[in-house]
Amino acid sequence: MRQRLSSEPDRYRGRRRVPTPPRSRYAAVVTSAFVGAGVVALGSATQMPDVKAPNPEVLKNLQEAAVAQDALADRATDPGDRASRGDDRSADAAAPTQEELEQEAWVLPLEDYTFSAPYGMRFGVLHEGIDLAAPEGTPFKAIHGGTVKQAGYNGGYGYSVTVELEDGTQMIYGHARRVLVRTGDTIKAGQILGEVGSTGHSFGTHLHVGVYVAGAPTDPVPYLRSHGVDIKLKIESVYGSLAAS
Ligand SMILES: [Zn+2]
Repeated sequence: MRQRLSSEPDRYRGRRRVPTPPRSRYAAVVTSAFVGAGVVALGSATQMPDVKAPNPEVLKNLQEAAVAQDALADRATDPGDRASRGDDRSADAAAPTQEELEQEAWVLPLEDYTFSAPYGMRFGVLHEGIDLAAPEGTPFKAIHGGTVKQAGYNGGYGYSVTVELEDGTQMIYGHARRVLVRTGDTIKAGQILGEVGSTGHSFGTHLHVGVYVAGAPTDPVPYLRSHGVDIKLKIESVYGSLAAS
């Protein structure tokens, strides 16, 4: 994996990992790129909120502000202003390669599913993940890239795949009919890991997705939302279409 300059990732996250309204994926990319350009221009003049977990209101305000800012900038004749915008745009064009976009991608694990069980206490036991019901044999994909730490039969999880992300977070995909990767594999977001099944301790065919941050079970819904994937609304990160292509 390529190491980035320390200043880069936050710029990418702030500008690109923005949940967008559920139109089409392509519309999402265009909208986000546009908002992104505006946000760069805004950054120098205004205090930026933390956009790692933006809410729709903040996004709407940002978008409106970005539109206004872009309109102003386009009319600006000050060469200094032009130059700084030009710098931002050339950096934008040069920075993210296809490979980088794929590494940054966060996508939904299934094309379609029914959210069937939340994270939390169930029958006096912590359900350490979420359940997404889907037909037997449906391919499921890596939400984010990383290294396969476990692939195969795994007790109550049946056939499962555990992927460790670059930051050490682990994601488990459980109850598969079969798995299609091996321990030690490096995988990308959107890569097919296996097929949905009902192996192990499972009622009905579904994909169990568990997230462990620093070893601790974590509710995947807010965790994934903070990375641009909304499980409930079925919205992917703006990188989704790029990773899948
Ligand atoms: Zn489960």
